[in-house]
Amino acid sequence: MNKTKYVFVTGGVTSSLGKGIIAASLAKLLQARGFSVTIQKLDPYINIDPGTLNPYEHGECYVTDDGAETDLDLGHYERFLNIPTSQANNVTTGRIYQSVIDKERKGEFLGKTVQVIPHITDEIKHRVQILGNTGDFDIVITEIGGTVGDIESLPYVESVRQLLWELGEENAIVIHLTLIPYLAAAGELKTKPTQHSVKTLMQSGVNPDVLVCRTEHEISDDIKRKLALFCNVKKEDVIQSLDASTIYDVPNLMFEEGLDTVVLKKLQLSEEKQPILTVWNNFLKKYKNPTSTVEVGLIGKYVELQDSYKSITEALIHASASNETKVTIRWIHSEDLTPGNVSEHLKGLNGILVAPGFGDRGIEGKIKAVQYARENNIPFFGICLGMQMAVIEYSRNVLGLAEANSTEMNEHTSHPVICLMEDQKEVTKKGGTMRLGAWDCEISEGSNVFKAYKKTMISERHRHRYEFNNEYLKLLSPKGMQTTGVNPKTGLVEIIEIPNHPWFVGVQYHPEYKSTVLNPHPLFVDFVKAALQHSK
Ligand code: GLN
Repeated sequence: MNKTKYVFVTGGVTSSLGKGIIAASLAKLLQARGFSVTIQKLDPYINIDPGTLNPYEHGECYVTDDGAETDLDLGHYERFLNIPTSQANNVTTGRIYQSVIDKERKGEFLGKTVQVIPHITDEIKHRVQILGNTGDFDIVITEIGGTVGDIESLPYVESVRQLLWELGEENAIVIHLTLIPYLAAAGELKTKPTQHSVKTLMQSGVNPDVLVCRTEHEISDDIKRKLALFCNVKKEDVIQSLDASTIYDVPNLMFEEGLDTVVLKKLQLSEEKQPILTVWNNFLKKYKNPTSTVEVGLIGKYVELQDSYKSITEALIHASASNETKVTIRWIHSEDLTPGNVSEHLKGLNGILVAPGFGDRGIEGKIKAVQYARENNIPFFGICLGMQMAVIEYSRNVLGLAEANSTEMNEHTSHPVICLMEDQKEVTKKGGTMRLGAWDCEISEGSNVFKAYKKTMISERHRHRYEFNNEYLKLLSPKGMQTTGVNPKTGLVEIIEIPNHPWFVGVQYHPEYKSTVLNPHPLFVDFVKAALQHSK
């Protein structure tokens, strides 16, 4: 086993340039050449993890098998690489400081002043090398969140500087991602922001090895030459990253630009093996050449920021390719739905997906959407809170329990069909205390979910506090709502279905986290298939 090589990805000029997609695309190309690769994200905020952030702040919170609540970029890493990430793949400033302060309290630095350099930077360097030290990876790509020049990014850039020096130039390199804006009035692409950004990086003692330039227009050779001259890189190390029609095109685009070759050369790794992207490109072909179209409604309360539902929309893309069907999403704000207008909002949909969420804002609208899907035989997919709303809707409108609710929304409801488990009742702290990560589920044969998974034992990721109340099992199942998936150890209900409906599935877990390009999630695939059937 060779020594692990490190690639750091920094960003400049603006945020939202797509560092995560560039990192994932490079990783994909290296993986397709036979290297084992993983990607890590360092986030400069002080929260221990994004689990306590409102989706409006930071988009979706992604969950790993080991129950880490992480940045949504980890979702891209898994969707591109098809390998699971873990707690070690996402580190925040909060976590760094927490462990340094814990060590200080234990007396591990006894007699010393604890400082950003070396204590914080040592901790960062340690976290960067944890994945490499497992011996499982030829290459670790570490994405540094934020933009160079931010005060909060400084300890990370300093740690990169130290690591570059300690590991040696053939073992660690820096890719700097910047923006080349186009000034319409001047009709020109401008390099100055990139020059400034690189200068800022260099003031911290870090010289970029490769520049990846986001641009809406082709970058000419002249501009590449100019960038090379001002930014201390060779012309062939200036890589253009043109806007793509789908993020899944980016690996091919980066291959055409030679990003992987440049990186392998610098890391003194063999470029002989060409990347094999057959399955990936098959997916792209199907995705781009659909033979039919369906329209699916996504009912949520964070629809203003579509990143809040990133893994769901990506899972729909994977399922759309599998079905060779274009899936258009009608974004529906659950707060806009009232008994009077629900049919107007949902008319014409081939599928209805009720999204996860927390708190009572917009839940009555979600319940109305479930009812509409159930009564009109429209394929329904309820995820986490969406599943809980389906149980509430059925209890209210079929069992006649008008008060049925989740104790999350009404603590004193006379029919708590969704409620807290005993172990959650003791919990007072909000951070990292939900039912998180992978849990087993046993599926009933003959159900729609069995048809999808084609097996009886599955493992899926969770992120919730409230659960189906088993007290109501004896009322719901004789009236036609079946529990078709149960945790074999705890007896907790994981899946509900209505057999007397074309496709009505609610899952307490988050299937979207496990959908990848190479392994589209079976439930999303079958949901889109059911929508397709509905459209005919
Ligand atoms: N708010 C619900 C719970 O905590 C559902 C959470 C979710 O949809 N992820 O149980």
